[in-house]
Amino acid sequence: MSSTAIPHRSWWSRFLQAIYLPAIFRGMAITLRHLLARKVTEQYPEERWQLPQGYRGFPELVQDDNGVERCVACGLCEIACPAYAIYIKPGEYPDPNVKDRFPVEFNIDMGRCIVCGYCEEACPVDAIRMSNRYELVSGNLADLIFKKDLLLDDFDNLEVPHIWEERQRDASERRANTLRPMFVPSDK
Ligand code: SF4
Ligand code: SF4
Repeated sequence: MSSTAIPHRSWWSRFLQAIYLPAIFRGMAITLRHLLARKVTEQYPEERWQLPQGYRGFPELVQDDNGVERCVACGLCEIACPAYAIYIKPGEYPDPNVKDRFPVEFNIDMGRCIVCGYCEEACPVDAIRMSNRYELVSGNLADLIFKKDLLLDDFDNLEVPHIWEERQRDASERRANTLRPMFVPSDK
């Protein structure tokens, strides 16, 4: 018949265990280790986050070197968008030698956008891409409907949040009397 040996512990050891002293010291050692370790907290917004390569921020429109937006108003991104955040009103481009169609209106409701990147993948002419922009602040959802002129701005040039907010305010002023609900064509 086999018997399992029970380790003998002194009354002193059992006493220390009973008043949790070893556990308290182990916990304090962990706290001390973290106290002395290198700090990883970033002082945002003064310290900006170094975005990882391939980071996907809010979508923006791309224009060619001659300043014409690449978009040909095919509507594929609008169809692909799972959040119904895109509204495009197509029109004939004035110079048929450049392209046939262009978006007379191109809105993205950033309040709806889930930054999935499907629009970028759907676009056959690389006219829409995911920017590095991840900050978006507004007390008004209507301000988050970005129209074509704002979407064609280079978001990446915006260095600090207060500039972003100024840009948002400018955009709000420009839109002040022209806002309308998304997905309702203006001629209806
Ligand atoms: S990133 Fe996704 S949710 Fe946002 S506009 Fe593009 S397809 Fe729509
Ligand atoms: S951004 Fe691309 S996919 Fe969307 S309408 Fe323009 S050309 Fe088509």
